[in-house]
Amino acid sequence: MNATITTKPTELELPPRQPLSGRTCLVTGASRGIGRGIARELGRHGATVIVNYRSSEGDAHAVADSITDSDADGTGHPVQADVTDRADVEAMSDAVHDEFGPIDVLVNNAGITADCTFANMTAEDWHRVFDVSLHGTFNCTKAFYDDLETVDHGRIINISSVIGKQGNVGQANYAAAKSGLFGFTRSLALELAGTGTTANCIAPGFTRTEMVEAIPDKIQDGLREDIPLERFAAVDEIASLARYLATEQSGYITGEVIDVNGGIDL
Ligand code: NAP
Repeated sequence: MNATITTKPTELELPPRQPLSGRTCLVTGASRGIGRGIARELGRHGATVIVNYRSSEGDAHAVADSITDSDADGTGHPVQADVTDRADVEAMSDAVHDEFGPIDVLVNNAGITADCTFANMTAEDWHRVFDVSLHGTFNCTKAFYDDLETVDHGRIINISSVIGKQGNVGQANYAAAKSGLFGFTRSLALELAGTGTTANCIAPGFTRTEMVEAIPDKIQDGLREDIPLERFAAVDEIASLARYLATEQSGYITGEVIDVNGGIDL
């Protein structure tokens, strides 16, 4: 006997809705590397993406254009602000609110390294790294917190690092700043519990960006040997997790540090 499946014609005619359509997402440090990958991935899934950059204006405009010009519904919009500078971040927040209203998703991605052994580390090396990774995250989260607390399914996604858990020779400043994001994220997740907004950290392992390309080849070879998957991550492998965390479907994940590191045992 042939089973007959009946479907309502109107359901068949509905266009597939992109999961981030109608969502406004701001990604800091999105002119290249992981930030660019996340911005593009969010745009590919329909989001309105604010592409923050500090100095790479041409690159940020290219990222934004590539999102707007793609076949997906997403649009890209470059906005300059040094995340370490509170006045800059406030000006960015005013400009974003004037044009787009409240944001739904904040990805605190901007980060730098200033590597040297602790014996040689200056206070300036220490503060520079903290200023971007930790104080920049504070500045941006503060500027958009009211939005994120009140919108439906708000999302805060902080980009930490495997180094925040593992530590590393020559990276005491970076490791301390990146592990600081764990406690920050967990605390926000608890304070936001019940609002529908979540806060999570992604802790990428070594990922193929300019930050890693700057490491001498011989040291890169040594690093790869310690990774069970024997390779560095592709940017898309980090970006796809950020995209999932940005969607409504991730609503029961909060306060987590999610490792994407090729199987490194921490
Ligand atoms: P990257 O290629 O060096 O790119 C860094 C981005 O941050 C650039 O777009 C840069 O913009 C921006 N930026 C730097 N300082 C800024 C500031 N003060 N204000 C606003 N934007 C600023 O770095 P990446 O490798 O993509 O890393 C991105 C994030 O992932 C960082 O937080 C990093 O710590 C983390 N991470 C990276 C790896 C890795 O292996 N690559 C692994 C784990 C975690 P401008 O060019 O305009 O300055």
